[in-house]
Amino acid sequence: MCGIVCYLGKRPALPILVECLRRLEYRGYDSSGLAVFSNGGIRSVRAVGKIQELEERLRQDPVAGTGGIAHTRWATHGAPSEANAHPHPDCRGEIYVIHNGIIENHQELRRDLERRGHAFVSETDTEVLSHLVEECWRDTLEDAVMRALRRVTGAFGIGVIAAADPAKIVVARRGSPLILGIGDGEVFAASDVTALVSHTKQVIYLHDDELAVLTDDTYRISNLLDQPIFRDQQTVDWDVASAEKQGYPHFMLKEIHEQ
Ligand code: GLU
Repeated sequence: MCGIVCYLGKRPALPILVECLRRLEYRGYDSSGLAVFSNGGIRSVRAVGKIQELEERLRQDPVAGTGGIAHTRWATHGAPSEANAHPHPDCRGEIYVIHNGIIENHQELRRDLERRGHAFVSETDTEVLSHLVEECWRDTLEDAVMRALRRVTGAFGIGVIAAADPAKIVVARRGSPLILGIGDGEVFAASDVTALVSHTKQVIYLHDDELAVLTDDTYRISNLLDQPIFRDQQTVDWDVASAEKQGYPHFMLKEIHEQ
């Protein structure tokens, strides 16, 4: 399991997403990628290896936009490759998903989705989520994600965007960590508070089977049946250096505890 980061606001998303990914580097990863709302659609860039490789791609081919999702991958299903790196698109390249965790019923979901005409291009378990959200689409992204997640078993922390419902990011979790960061006219989400503390100290920890709909000036939390959940923000009182160790005196102790 590696890292996810989401940003939606008024500032250029790219430098923020890349900086937040860098703060997750200590967790280890084999590839990285991001997808940003850009010119009425979504642009995605991915690279195998270090985040530097992704930055090099972005220098040659910059993506403008003020909202997006980003991921560092630690492969569980499918080799570390560009095709298997996240975000994963649906059939039309209009829905993009980043995912930490393992979808346990991915084989059966994939068989079912392929029978319904969905074309898969990666070897990951994650790609079933992109096609499942596409399959479940009726009118809004959050509705499609809720319908999709009710059919999934396993662990997930996800971020999803769709060109048909722009200026919105839907995040959800079960078994994998996910934290919202509330800024001034901007919102964040990440799998690790470390990624957020240089931007905001106001955070909300999502619980299992919760989903949040993020727009640049607000957020809404619910369960997967769309029943609203109200939870106060917490103030993180660490600075960046100690946040990276999350209260542990050494990184090694933190990693041992996480295992
Ligand atoms: N199971 C997914 C994959 O292999 C996600 C791995 C991760 O959490 O980084 O792509």
